Amino acid sequence: MEKKRKKLHFSVKVLIGLGLGIVIGIILQPYADFASTFIQPFGTLYLNAVKMLIVPLVFCSLVMGACGLGDVKKFGRIGLKTMGIYLLTTFFAASIGVILGNLTDVGTGLDLKTDVAVEAVETPNFVETLTNIIPSNPIQAMANGDMLQIIVFALFVGAGIVIVGKKAEPVKGFIDGFSDIMYKITDIVMSFTPYAVFALITPVIASNGKEVLLPLLSFVLVVYAGLVLHLILIYGMGIRFGVGMNPLEFMKKSWEAIIISFSTCSSSATLPATMQCGKRLGIPLPIRSFTLPLGATVNMDGGAIYQGVTAIFVANLFGVDLSLTEEILIIATAVLASVGTAGVAGASIIMVSVVLTSVGLPMEGVAIVAGVDKLIDMPRTSVNIIGDLMCSAIVARSEGELDAKKTMLEESV
Ligand code: ASP
Repeated sequence: MEKKRKKLHFSVKVLIGLGLGIVIGIILQPYADFASTFIQPFGTLYLNAVKMLIVPLVFCSLVMGACGLGDVKKFGRIGLKTMGIYLLTTFFAASIGVILGNLTDVGTGLDLKTDVAVEAVETPNFVETLTNIIPSNPIQAMANGDMLQIIVFALFVGAGIVIVGKKAEPVKGFIDGFSDIMYKITDIVMSFTPYAVFALITPVIASNGKEVLLPLLSFVLVVYAGLVLHLILIYGMGIRFGVGMNPLEFMKKSWEAIIISFSTCSSSATLPATMQCGKRLGIPLPIRSFTLPLGATVNMDGGAIYQGVTAIFVANLFGVDLSLTEEILIIATAVLASVGTAGVAGASIIMVSVVLTSVGLPMEGVAIVAGVDKLIDMPRTSVNIIGDLMCSAIVARSEGELDAKKTMLEESV
C-alpha cells in the first residue's frame, strides 16, 4: 500500500517535470541558448546514464528471457508471433500515414522549397542487412551498440543455455545476478526521471518557437493526427480484443514509459521504464524480457506513420504524381525502414531518405522536415513504445500467461 502511494507520487513528479519544462521552455524562448547551455546538460547526463545500462540490460534480459521460455520450440513460437505482430502493426501504421497524407493533400500549395542539397543516404543493401544480423564479433557489436546484432547473440546464448542444461547453470546464474544488478542501477537512474524530463523538455520548447513551427504546421498536424488515429484504431482494438483490457487502464499502467519516451525521444533509453510498465501490465518476465528489447529495436509504428506522411508531403510539395504502385512501395519500404530504425532520437529522419529514394522523390524533402523533427519525434517515440507494450501483452495473453489479476476486464469477470 505504502509502495503504491510512493509510485503515484513519483508519477506525479514526472508529470510536474514535464509541465514545468513546457512552461519554463516557453518563458525561455528568447533565451534558447541559455536553455541548451545550462539546462540540457542535466538531461544529457541522465541519457548517458540510461545508455550506459542499455547494452548489458538488453543482453542479460534477452538471455534470461530466452532461457525462461523453457524449450526451444516455445522460444521459436513466441519469436514468430512477436515479429508477426510487430510487422503487422507497422504495416497498418505506414498505411495510415500514406492514406492520411493523400486524404489531407498535405503539402499541396505550400512554398517551402529549399536550396539545401541533401545527400541521399545509401539505401541499405537488403542481403547485407540480413547477413549482418549475425555478428561476426559479438564484443564489437556490444561496443558499437548494434542492438540487432546484440539481440541475435543473446538469443543464441539463451538457446545454448537451454540446450546445454545443467552444465550451463553457473553461466545462467551469473547472467541472472548481473541483470539484477543492472535493474537495481536502473531503479536508481529512474529516480532522477522527473528532473531529467524537465531538463530535456525545456530546451526543446525554448528553441522551437513559432518561426520554426508555423510554415510546417499542416504537416506536423497531419503526422499528429496519424499518430492519434493509430493509437485509437489499431492500439485501441488491439488492447481491447488482443490483450483483453480496457485501453484507458492500459495507458494508465504504461504512462511512465509514455512520458519518458516523449522526453527522451528514444525507445532504447525508455527500455528500463518500458520493462517496468510491462511488469505492471502483468506480462511475465520471460516474455517481457524477450519481446520488449526486441520491440525497442525493431518496432517503430510512430516512425512508419511519419515516413508515410512525409513521402506524400514531399511528393505534393514538389508536384510529383505518385502511382498506386509507388504508394504501395512507400508502405513496404517504410515498414522495412522502421525495422532498421535505431531506437534513438531522430533516427527516423535518416530513414526518411531511404523511403524517398525508393520512389525517386527529391532528397531536399529531408531538409525541409528536419526543422520540426524533434516535435514529431517526441510523440512518435511514445507511439513506438506503446506498440511494443501492446504486442508484448498480446503475445503473453496468447500464451495464456498474462497475469489475469492485473487486467481490468478479467478483474471484473
Ligand atoms: N526516436 C524514435 C525511437 O527511439 C525513433 C524515430 O522514430 O526516430 O523510437
